[in-house]
Amino acid sequence: MAGSLIVKDGLIVRGGAGSRRYETADIVVEGAHIVAIGPDKGREYDGTVVDASNAIVMPGLVNAHLHSNEGFQQGAYDNLPLEMWLGESYPPFGFPVLTERDYYLRTMLAAIESIRAGVTTVQDDYVHPPATPDAMDAAIQAYADAGLRAWVTVDMWDQPLRACLPWADELIPDAIHDELASMGGADADAQIALFERQFERWHGHDGRIRIVLAPCGPQRCTPDLLRRIAALSAERDIPIHCHTLETRLQAIHAEQAWDMTAVAFMDKVGLLGPRTTLVHAIWLTDDDIARLADRGCSVVHNPLSNMKLGSGTCPVRKLRDAGIAVALGTDGLATSDTADLVEAIRAASLIHKTGKPDHASWVSADEVFDMATSAGARTGLMADRVGRIEPGMCADLILLDRGHWGFIPLVDPIRQLAFSATSEAVRTSIVDGRIVMRDRKILSVDEGALRDEIREAAERYLRDCVPAMEAGARRLAPYLEAIYRRAQNTLPSP
Ligand SMILES: [Zn+2]
Repeated sequence: MAGSLIVKDGLIVRGGAGSRRYETADIVVEGAHIVAIGPDKGREYDGTVVDASNAIVMPGLVNAHLHSNEGFQQGAYDNLPLEMWLGESYPPFGFPVLTERDYYLRTMLAAIESIRAGVTTVQDDYVHPPATPDAMDAAIQAYADAGLRAWVTVDMWDQPLRACLPWADELIPDAIHDELASMGGADADAQIALFERQFERWHGHDGRIRIVLAPCGPQRCTPDLLRRIAALSAERDIPIHCHTLETRLQAIHAEQAWDMTAVAFMDKVGLLGPRTTLVHAIWLTDDDIARLADRGCSVVHNPLSNMKLGSGTCPVRKLRDAGIAVALGTDGLATSDTADLVEAIRAASLIHKTGKPDHASWVSADEVFDMATSAGARTGLMADRVGRIEPGMCADLILLDRGHWGFIPLVDPIRQLAFSATSEAVRTSIVDGRIVMRDRKILSVDEGALRDEIREAAERYLRDCVPAMEAGARRLAPYLEAIYRRAQNTLPSP
């Protein structure tokens, strides 16, 4: 029989319920799919052989939450909570507008980091407040060229700043609100139109690109926009991806704005269901968790970002015990400061053990591996095709070097990925049946040339754009600080 790719003699970690089953076998890939697995199975097929005899073969990792639009801002901020960090990194005054090529390069940086870290699927929540199509096209083209599977959002936000923060009317001067209002901003109709355009143009492109609906947060969208998003999701059968209850301040805001929790509000407007994923989901009540379980929602946990911004800790144990799929993300390159999901795997495998004496409640490396593969695929509504190594699944595979120091001696590949190895162990990456990196050389794009171009563009961004961003941020910083301080002194109602 004809086969296009035979991954030969690897130690296979299948993922999903079979995660603890390790076997030395061949994986036969035809086109974009796995067609057979078994010892010496490759003998029955013709095709290109990839020698995996010194490799651990795992399902490619799924980074379920990333903002590639922060690609030029790695390491730019520290010691800022979310609300103040937003004021610096997404300043309403001085927000940078770049060329289409720069948008491409900014996402390409995240794409290359992802490939080198064993990520084969990226769910990129592409936050671009001007909502112009050139930036979105450039980002998706970068993923298409890099060879990644990419689920890219159209991120929507139609509420003014004063509606998104508690005490904004009292603590931010009217003149600032008026000036922000005079700048306009994309309205709901324009953002829905952009979604329609992106869906027509890109959804299903190359079999790897999908478009996702992303209300940026329930407090950042009008109820009308949230209802329209829910209707589009049902009509097109595509995911909804929504930052929810990332901070204490957001929990307080929900009670003030809606007299209920954010989760109850989202339910009320019809946003919750099996296609909906809540990003962060830290400040949840037990009732919220029961409601999310009942509606079949998923959650994305972003431990690096949550630690960096001091946001709190997602109740992963409670969520999983309630039967909720919890995926794993790095979050944006200006909060976690990396697209390396192996770093997030390590953080998630450690953080839930701290400060809790009952070790039976701790989150294990095995569970985190499931989060970084199958549960991630679930958030993209692709769990039947992505995240496990089984016949019929998409051929998204990574080969890790058994000679990497973190795998010597080889005791438990998943625990060693979480606790011992680094992403440097990932040698070869296959996405949709195509080899995108072999022996750590990226084959899909010219990494060396792109490195030079990205460095030049990012340095130009630092020089030409950042001073205006900083000046804009300074105008709002004292008010955001005052709002943040008041929130810290206010007990959340839940
Ligand atoms: Zn985010």
